[in-house]
Amino acid sequence: MPLYRDEALVLHCIDLGEADRIITLLTKHHGRVRAVAKGVRKVRSRFGGRLEPFMRQDVLIATGRSLDVISQSATIAAYADAITQEYSCYIAANVIAEVAESVVATLDEPDEEQYTLAVAAISALSRQLHHSLDITASYILRALALAGWQMRLDACVVCGRTDKLTSLSNASGGVMCSLDRTPDARHIDQGVLQTLKLWLAGNWQMLDTNAQEPLFDQTRHIALPIVEHWAQFYLEKPIRSARLLD
Ligand SMILES: [Zn+2]
Repeated sequence: MPLYRDEALVLHCIDLGEADRIITLLTKHHGRVRAVAKGVRKVRSRFGGRLEPFMRQDVLIATGRSLDVISQSATIAAYADAITQEYSCYIAANVIAEVAESVVATLDEPDEEQYTLAVAAISALSRQLHHSLDITASYILRALALAGWQMRLDACVVCGRTDKLTSLSNASGGVMCSLDRTPDARHIDQGVLQTLKLWLAGNWQMLDTNAQEPLFDQTRHIALPIVEHWAQFYLEKPIRSARLLD
C-alpha cells in the first residue's frame, strides 16, 4: 500500500469492531482524512493515547482501498492533556473540532489555512491564552470566512452605508441598516456588532481587555448564538456540541 506522511490534528474517533477505531484527522497537506487505527483500544496498543482528540501528531498513513490505515504516529503537541482537565476548554475544543470537520467538507483536499487556524485555536485553548468562548467564536467566524462565508460587518450588505447598522441577516451575508432590513434579520446593538468584529479580526488585545469587564459577559452571551446560527446556516447543520457551551 502506498504511504504518505503528514502533520495532523485528531478531531474525532469512533470505535470500529473489537479493538480498532476510525480516526478523523485534519491534516496539513491532505485536508480531512479518515483512517483506521488498528488495535488502538487494546491496553498495550502501540499508539498509546496518541490518537485521542486534540492530539497533534506526525502520522504515517497507508492508502487503503476503502479506508486508509494509520501505520505510525508520533506526538508533536499533546493539547489534549490540558484541555481535558478544564471542562469549559473541553467543550470549546469539541465545538472547534466539530466545526473543523464540517467546514473542511471534502476529504483529501489540502487546506493548510484551515489546518493552521484550527491548530492555533486548540493550542490557545490548551494554554488558556484567552477566554474559551472568545477563542471558540473567533475560530468559527474565521473558519467560515476561509471557507467563503465571511460575515460582512463593516457596511450594509444592501446599500453599503457604514452607519446605523442595526440588523444582521444570515441569508444576506451580514449587517444591514434599518431601511434595508429584511424580515429574517435580527436586531443587533453596537456592543454586539463590535464584539463580532473583534472575533472576526482575531483582535486579542481588545478581546482580552474586554474580558476583564464584568458587563462583557452579557454581550458575549448575546453575540455567541449569532455566530452559532451563522455557522449552522452555512454548514447546513447544527453544531451539536455547542449546546453545552454555556
Ligand atoms: Zn442599507
